[in-house]
Amino acid sequence: MADIRPCQLLYLFYAVAFCGICIGHINGQRTQVLWTQAKLNHRPTTLSSSDITRVLSHTDLNQMWQRDLRPLLVPRYPNSAGSLSVQQHIKSTLGSLTAGWAVQEDRFESHTPYGPMTFNNIIATLNPSTQRRLVLACHYDSKYYPPQWDGREFLGATDSAVPCAMMLELARALDQELKTQEDSNPKLSLQLIFFDGEEALFQWTSTDSLYGSRHLAQKMENTAHPPGAKDTNELHAIDLFVLLDLIGGPSPRFGNQFPNTARWLTRMQNIERRLHNLGQLKDHPNDIQYFWPGIPVGPVQDDHMPFLNRGVRILHLIPTPFPSVWHSFDDTEQNLDRSAIENLNKILQVFVLEYLNMKPQVENPQNAP
Ligand SMILES: [Zn+2]
Repeated sequence: MADIRPCQLLYLFYAVAFCGICIGHINGQRTQVLWTQAKLNHRPTTLSSSDITRVLSHTDLNQMWQRDLRPLLVPRYPNSAGSLSVQQHIKSTLGSLTAGWAVQEDRFESHTPYGPMTFNNIIATLNPSTQRRLVLACHYDSKYYPPQWDGREFLGATDSAVPCAMMLELARALDQELKTQEDSNPKLSLQLIFFDGEEALFQWTSTDSLYGSRHLAQKMENTAHPPGAKDTNELHAIDLFVLLDLIGGPSPRFGNQFPNTARWLTRMQNIERRLHNLGQLKDHPNDIQYFWPGIPVGPVQDDHMPFLNRGVRILHLIPTPFPSVWHSFDDTEQNLDRSAIENLNKILQVFVLEYLNMKPQVENPQNAP
């Protein structure tokens, strides 16, 4: 190091900064910090007010309601006709977009209190060869209830039709941005996971629940990533696992379950405040109503558990308390809060854009009025 001129120092700095594997020194020993550690220091971008206004002009609650949510509002417990139609709906929606989603299915059989049953997770990934992924996840199955004497059916509007519809709406509204995402940050991408079999079929136990997430977490742990890697697997690729559940009721409040991801809940709060100040949020009298990183909440058993137990970092977006209609026949479209859903759509879309370091696309001037 004795004879390095300033220009060489600059070159050395850039070489280290962009090599993908950072070289550090601990006690004089050269150590390598793997790409898997990049999530710990990840910095989101902050969009300007005009960028936010421009990109949020693409989200449309009425369109989401008709195109994404209504097809999900059917009984869709594993192996039902409704489950098959919902799977088809998710796959055809993602397949119709231009961003280039690679859609995979994880079909497997598992023992249940009713005997062996088939389950199917759906995983959609942008640029699958990218090292790191921000994951958004929901469960698409609804809880099974035996036929009711008065003909009522359990529809699970908040549990979890709305979260799945929010993810489809996000993919649709950000389609143009996601198409060029690789240019913004070639090492980071987006993955959407739609789990089957979250609900207990008879009664919640460690074996009668979380069928889809238990299977997929195990499978991802056993799948090398990048392909051919010896020491890293698809779980290492997950920067942050954002699980959406029980969303759609009025006045949701999200508290802090995991100190190691509290900064991302704080980020959500920051976005909520910015969108409030821009006048983007409906029926939202105070600048903070939804996200409370300073309020600790207890653990909840949900699809994140098999991932949490394997060391994945979790942001669990589930309200405290649960919606009052939880696991009742009143968890229906009529009891949803449209303003809260629209507001959360906007907050989530800005969160994803900023996490992925994306800039909204400038509209084609030829399309301008
Ligand atoms: Zn449930």
